[in-house]
Amino acid sequence: MKIVDPHAHMFSRTVDDYQRMAAAGVACVIEPGFWLGSDRDYAESFWDYFKHITTFEPGRAKKYGVTHYSFLAVNPKEARNACAKKAVEGMWKYLDAENCLGIGEVGFDLITDSEEEIMKRQMEYAEQHKLLILIHTPHVNKPKGTERTIKVIEKMGLTTERILIDHNTEETIEMSLACGKCFCGHTIYPVTKMSPPRMVALLKKHGTDRMLMNSACDWGVSDPLAVPKTVDLMWQDGFSEAEIKKVVWDNAHKFFGQSKNWKLEK
Ligand SMILES: [Zn+2]
Repeated sequence: MKIVDPHAHMFSRTVDDYQRMAAAGVACVIEPGFWLGSDRDYAESFWDYFKHITTFEPGRAKKYGVTHYSFLAVNPKEARNACAKKAVEGMWKYLDAENCLGIGEVGFDLITDSEEEIMKRQMEYAEQHKLLILIHTPHVNKPKGTERTIKVIEKMGLTTERILIDHNTEETIEMSLACGKCFCGHTIYPVTKMSPPRMVALLKKHGTDRMLMNSACDWGVSDPLAVPKTVDLMWQDGFSEAEIKKVVWDNAHKFFGQSKNWKLEK
């Protein structure tokens, strides 16, 4: 089974991870801009990071047979930084990179007005330029943060089929699916958020339309093989080959294929 992992912070990962992912069927990873673990004090540090994940990282992935795409953003956790606005206004030229599909991850962390302002500025640019948008939903107060994000999407009149609302759980999936034609991502973690069994149960309950799942594989406790492991569980649970392929391959092509930069062969 060929797999797209649509949210993977490979910046924090080594070649061993690329090799293991490729061996397990992961043909493509998508890397959104994130918080590196300490706040950046300079807008320039964001820009160097954008350069890194749009130049070095796709080249590194390719050596191990993995296609790499990126999303760029000033993420919600750093929206309150003194340099956040400057970082955003200097970001646009990096979005022209060949492997870049859009803006993300944007959204809420502590669910504040300053986070909303930074998110809206980036979303507005994405809508104007027909770029895809990848939305982070908060770890704490997830339903409240998701609800407020959806209100922003509706108020701004964004094109919902170009939006992926990520990190859904049982608590948020209904409202995310009901938000126009938004795609819905799920992050499968070994301990928190979704586990593989919970993910399989969620797909059984809500179906596979507009559904995606990812490993996040960041610098914390996370598993680069979370998606292949969930695929194993879907087989055991009696999902058909077509249904599994839809979640890990076809839906990704449908969503990311809206970008002119998406060149992954079907
Ligand atoms: Zn992330």
